[in-house]
Amino acid sequence: MRRRLAALFQDHEIFVRTHGHVRFLRVSALWQKRVALITGLVLLAWAGATIAVLVSQLLNSGERAAVAKQQAAAAASEARIAKYRDNVAETAADLEDRQEQLEEWSKAHFGVAPAVMTPQAGAPAPVAEKAPLKTSARNSGAAINPNLPPEAQVLARLEARQEDFATRLLAAVNDRATKAEGAVAKLGMNPAALVRNAAAGRGGPFIPYRSRNGRASSLGESFAALESALFRMEVLERTLVAIPSGKPANVLMLSSSYGYRSDPFTGAGAMHSGLDYPGPMGSPILAAAPGRVVFVGQKSGYGNVVEVDHGQGILTRYAHLSGFASTVGAQVAAGEQIAKMGSTGRSTGSHLHFEVRLNGVAVNPRRFLEAKADVLEVKDDARQRVGSVAAVRGAR
Ligand SMILES: [Zn+2]
Repeated sequence: MRRRLAALFQDHEIFVRTHGHVRFLRVSALWQKRVALITGLVLLAWAGATIAVLVSQLLNSGERAAVAKQQAAAAASEARIAKYRDNVAETAADLEDRQEQLEEWSKAHFGVAPAVMTPQAGAPAPVAEKAPLKTSARNSGAAINPNLPPEAQVLARLEARQEDFATRLLAAVNDRATKAEGAVAKLGMNPAALVRNAAAGRGGPFIPYRSRNGRASSLGESFAALESALFRMEVLERTLVAIPSGKPANVLMLSSSYGYRSDPFTGAGAMHSGLDYPGPMGSPILAAAPGRVVFVGQKSGYGNVVEVDHGQGILTRYAHLSGFASTVGAQVAAGEQIAKMGSTGRSTGSHLHFEVRLNGVAVNPRRFLEAKADVLEVKDDARQRVGSVAAVRGAR
């Protein structure tokens, strides 16, 4: 190697002739070696720099491609996430609306808020126990798509629980409404007509509001069904509560006194539109059902009169009174004293004349006063529910 190098770089003497002068140029082996080395180094440096630039360019383009790819992926996933987030937000808002509606109904019709529905919470609803078993078979976790992201699964579970709750509530409400319907029919009233009149805005001041127009149906079929079931239950149960089945005085009634009979003053046949309760002057006169006193004063023939409106088109009239124990506008409970027995007006002796009017027409009060135990049981149940709602409203 050394010898080869030595052979390559030998001392050279170059003979140069210029304008007749002859000169010798001497190129030493050492000098040649130095030039070769420097040239080599320069070449190497250039090559290195070029390669570095090339590599860096290659790297950059690779990076750029990678970044672009990442950006595209990020944009796509952002769009996906945004869409999903919108969906989740929408579902959550829906759930909240439905929850609000359920709470509103629960408070308005049962005086309680439904159990807070979390995925961990146990069986919901104070009314749910009465629901038939088949509805609770709708297991809330069963139908949920396992491919959904976790937060969407939580929402889906909540939605299923809510739907389950609404279904159970519907069954319980329908159950109550059907019982009330039977009791109302047994009292000689037409349940379908009562509900129809109430829906048309007739039938007295105690008809509960119907929730905001169209809201329930916008919350789904089950909510629309629930709304009309609640309305039906409310009308029929409040009618039952309004039925004057309490004794208006703690004395015996003249059970044959309603209907056509000879007028004690003229002797001619006349319609006697109420029941008479003979008793001692000043005996307490009691409201036959809860309601609002709407008249206190004199009426021709009736003498001193108190009238109580029980809602659902039902009114009771107490006549021939010797004194009043209530004022117009007062809310009275069943059995609360409103007046004193007397003999004012067309009366032949101390007695109470008791009338029940249905939508302004006098009816025989006996069918209400002689309501059977099964009817009274349903009525008592209705009274408790309506009472608990009134208590909640009063507490606000
Ligand atoms: Zn009478």
